[in-house]
Amino acid sequence: MTQTADIIIIGGGLLGTSAAYQLAKRKAGKIVLCEQNDIASQATSRAACLLTRARTKPGLMELVQETYDCIEEIETELNESLDLQQVGSLTISASEASKKGLEDTYMAAQRFGIEAEMVGPKAVKEMLPWIDNTSVREAVWMPTDAFIDAALLCNGYAKAAKKRGVVVRTRTGVSAILHSNQRVTGVRLGNNDEIHAPVVIDAAGAWSNLLSYPLGIGLPHTPVRSHFWITEVNPSLFPANQPFAVLPDARAFTRPDVGALIVGIREPECVSYDPKEMKTNIEHVDFTPDNGWSTLSQSASLFEAFFPQFRDLGIAHYMAGPSCYVPDANFIIGGVSSMEGFYTSSGCCGGGVAAGGGMGRLLSEIVTGEETFVNAAPFDPERFGAINPFDPAFQKSCADARSNKKGG
Ligand SMILES: Cc1cc2nc3c(=O)[nH]c(=O)nc-3n(C[C@H](O)[C@H](O)[C@H](O)COP(=O)(O)OP(=O)(O)OC[C@H]3O[C@@H](n4cnc5c(N)ncnc54)[C@H](O)[C@@H]3O)c2cc1C
Repeated sequence: MTQTADIIIIGGGLLGTSAAYQLAKRKAGKIVLCEQNDIASQATSRAACLLTRARTKPGLMELVQETYDCIEEIETELNESLDLQQVGSLTISASEASKKGLEDTYMAAQRFGIEAEMVGPKAVKEMLPWIDNTSVREAVWMPTDAFIDAALLCNGYAKAAKKRGVVVRTRTGVSAILHSNQRVTGVRLGNNDEIHAPVVIDAAGAWSNLLSYPLGIGLPHTPVRSHFWITEVNPSLFPANQPFAVLPDARAFTRPDVGALIVGIREPECVSYDPKEMKTNIEHVDFTPDNGWSTLSQSASLFEAFFPQFRDLGIAHYMAGPSCYVPDANFIIGGVSSMEGFYTSSGCCGGGVAAGGGMGRLLSEIVTGEETFVNAAPFDPERFGAINPFDPAFQKSCADARSNKKGG
């Protein structure tokens, strides 16, 4: 069976649904979104859900602000709450090395007009009862920072897109992107049906290279393991309204979680995967054979300097999943010169919850030929030249981008 559309989006995670929403807002034509599992069921379902505004890279604060704006818009459009938890954030410095980053963050927030205040160790202890503040020098307090259930946000984008006419097809896998004479012509589905369209957006996350590479397009990212641990419940140490915290000196972050504490720690050498290892559903991928214990014991010491009790606390849950990292830790948004009509929003670098709304807006502006609200050059899919995403050396360079990550 053959159907037609103006735009096909592959992937119903945060990046596909936000693109669908932003394109529908721009009345970009008949849009069909194909998702091989369920909406928000893959990487999106595993996120720690931080909406960190404190960014110093060009364009990033704008992309994150757009997500906050989308949340408000969608709540109004659907007349439903997306349950944004505005607990604020603390980015904490305990060394000369991280102090510079902290000051840059504070200045970037000031320039952008986001509420931010420098606070000392005493204020940090008042907000985070669990912290040993002996080594804390100073912190940036950003009271308007928030976290949100990523699956709820993703379903919000999808519902708002549907309300504006987007056809959302779940349990509908794309087996190939069709093309002829260097331009895309549509997609073939798993059941061999075809949907024809002049524009195809590859937002298939960890799987996006499996669809693009047969067209000669190597997207410069690979799945890298992201993970966090959730402690046992202790409401006096971890009150539900405490800020989330970013600890660059420990390569760690924390977030309250109904009386428990989410603790994310980046290991010194992160693990990358070949996209084929993701199977068709991450439920079938064993990201850490020992449930994260060996990684925790190797990497927790820097964090324990801030929270000595951590080593004696019970761990209730471990969560791991793929985030697609890029060697320069910047997103992949836009088209490619070799294939007309092919676009992508991918390479989320662990930031698709925070920046997804803005990534969708930027991509939709590129697709519709509008002036873009941020400079698109830093996100150009072709900025590394030709790459082979299946090359282990390339995959390691992507993992290194996460190994060096210190932010939230
Ligand atoms: C442990 C962890 C913690 C994280 N914490 C944060 C955080 O605090 N803040 C933050 O901003 N980000 C965070 N992230 C990152 C965030 O989850 C991702 O940036 C985001 O979910 C990426 O969305 P996506 O749409 O690219 O990927 P996905 O959610 O994986 O969506 C891709 C979709 O494409 C579909 N698909 C694949 N192939 C096909 C095909 N052939 N046909 C049809 N559909 C297909 C898949 O089924 C999937 O649903 C975290 C990630 C992890 C794993």
